[in-house]
Amino acid sequence: MPNASSEVWSRLTDSSLLQSLNLIDGAWTAAQSGNTHAVVNPSNQREIAVVAASDAEDARLAVQAAFAAGPAWASKPAKDRATILRKWRDSIVANSADLGLILAAEQGKPLRESIDEVLYGASFVGWFAEEALRAYGDTIPSPSPSKRIAVVKQPIGVAALITPWNFPSAMITRKAGPALAAGCTVVLKPAEDTPLSALALGELALRSGLPPGVLNIVTTAQPAGVGEVLTTDPRVRKLSFTGSTRIGKMLMQKCASTVKRVSLELGGNAAFIVFEDADVDAAVEGIMAAKFRNTGQTCISANRIFVHEALYETLTERLTHKVGELVVGDALAEGSQQGPLINEAALHKVTRLVEDALAHGARLLIGGTAHSRGGWYFQPTVLCDVPSSSAMQEEEIFGPVAALQRFSDEKEVVALANATPYGLASYFYSRDIARCWRVAEMLEVGMVGINDGSLSTEVAPFGGIKESGFGREGSKYGIAEYQESKYISFGGI
Ligand code: NAP
Repeated sequence: MPNASSEVWSRLTDSSLLQSLNLIDGAWTAAQSGNTHAVVNPSNQREIAVVAASDAEDARLAVQAAFAAGPAWASKPAKDRATILRKWRDSIVANSADLGLILAAEQGKPLRESIDEVLYGASFVGWFAEEALRAYGDTIPSPSPSKRIAVVKQPIGVAALITPWNFPSAMITRKAGPALAAGCTVVLKPAEDTPLSALALGELALRSGLPPGVLNIVTTAQPAGVGEVLTTDPRVRKLSFTGSTRIGKMLMQKCASTVKRVSLELGGNAAFIVFEDADVDAAVEGIMAAKFRNTGQTCISANRIFVHEALYETLTERLTHKVGELVVGDALAEGSQQGPLINEAALHKVTRLVEDALAHGARLLIGGTAHSRGGWYFQPTVLCDVPSSSAMQEEEIFGPVAALQRFSDEKEVVALANATPYGLASYFYSRDIARCWRVAEMLEVGMVGINDGSLSTEVAPFGGIKESGFGREGSKYGIAEYQESKYISFGGI
């Protein structure tokens, strides 16, 4: 069990949500090797739990369980699957305070924001419980009078889900929700840094009546061995991965050996453009939301902020003032708005990127270095005049650093926004209707926020193009990622 002496856990109402073993075939199961790894609270670097350190053998057991459970789950009436998913959604909501605490403790996201993530995650389970009922196929007018043509939707089979640490709850439910709704069974490998939210979701899924083997969870600190099984075992028919582009490319290659269906939600390099006709205060609010949520550690974080020269001075001044008001602190402390970065490597990366930008001529307006609290905290930072040659214009900053540069021309700024291999999200602020359509159509991304810095919702398709991946999560499109379309030609009529 997780370190029972941890004072964090004394705040839980239901301590049985804390699980430390793999979930395989409906049972909490130690790694076959007996190995474990520690989970650390990024807010204070204290060990808060010890979980199974699985390897390929555990992954094979999980795949076996998912494969065996597949036919019964797939043939369950959609109404029955929906009922179980609705119960799961309700229990996530009912336990959101505890789940938020677990998430905040393992990830460092301020508690209020952590609870919001849990509720956002629950919304996917609720949404896909409903979509399960609407897995409609087609009938197609036949070119032959003696034939009828139908298309039915069927679950793909075993779906492997690999998720990152930055949204330890929602990245799981937005994959597991549609997979289970479609009739797939699942093997989930959560991130090494944040396994506890995944295991707590597993506990609630069991309580909601999900049959053994339908959702299996394998935790590890050595992802390559588990990943090898999930990407090469022929019984796994689908991989849905959220994480870095580098790992996504590698997993996609491995999946080619057994021609698995693949969905990839990868890295981003979002442009945030403020045109001269924008409402400056609304744009500042948008930047605060798009940049500083989760301490800047989101894939759709505003990585490059382009501000028209007519508004540049006003906007930078107002933004710097707002950033200066952000409260940095322990994720579980009252009033914290910015938590720590996830680990020491992240702190080094953000520090390196800021130093590099300054060396290239950027100007520092506020912040700029590690926070005086010590640990893995970085000061909320605003840099202006960041040249395109700086590393932070090409790499995801993944930290609380707003990087501004000025522009003067629409065409030029759209070209700059598109000058990246990534294509996840972009934002822009303008009150010119013609420009809004024009620019939205020209941006090479999967998602555009016009006068909107918060894009995520379960009702809309989330996903990227170019090297940000392919596939969509949420909305009516999300379930299709886990379905096959089978064409049936019925002759002799
Ligand atoms: P990451 O290093 O690619 O890790 C993502 C997941 O892949 C983790 O579970 C990781 O396990 C696992 N993994 C690593 N190596 C593996 C291997 N050889 N085989 C199988 N699995 C392996 O990314 P991250 O740092 O956790 O997450 C941040 C990245 O995710 C950013 O690039 C961000 O933009 C992206 N992201 C994208 C979206 C989106 O929707 N597009 C959403 C959120 C995040 P370990 O934890 O053990 O390393």
